[in-house]
Amino acid sequence: MFCPKCGSVLLPKKEGSRKSLVCSCGYKSSNVEKTKITETVTKKEKEVEVIEKKVNILPKTKVKCEKCGHKTAFFWTVQTRAGDEPETKFLKCEKCGHIWRDYD
Ligand SMILES: [Zn+2]
Ligand SMILES: [Zn+2]
Repeated sequence: MFCPKCGSVLLPKKEGSRKSLVCSCGYKSSNVEKTKITETVTKKEKEVEVIEKKVNILPKTKVKCEKCGHKTAFFWTVQTRAGDEPETKFLKCEKCGHIWRDYD
């Protein structure tokens, strides 16, 4: 964030429960919270993108989808609890995207 008046870098300043950005020239901005929200949204979108990419590189297995009858699905395993339980296998239909758990 830069000062719109003089172009210097704005410094964060806490005033009680409110946060604001101040400049050495006396300029004061109070839109810190707004900026933070925008950053969080951008991060979440990126995370979703990463998950989507991960699904596309997952290994495939020959299994019948109970929803559409397609015979190929992506699969991955998730360790549900600390070590004492076996991994849970998840399957995602390649065709319709249906996700289900695989109980051996
Ligand atoms: Zn300034
Ligand atoms: Zn399916």
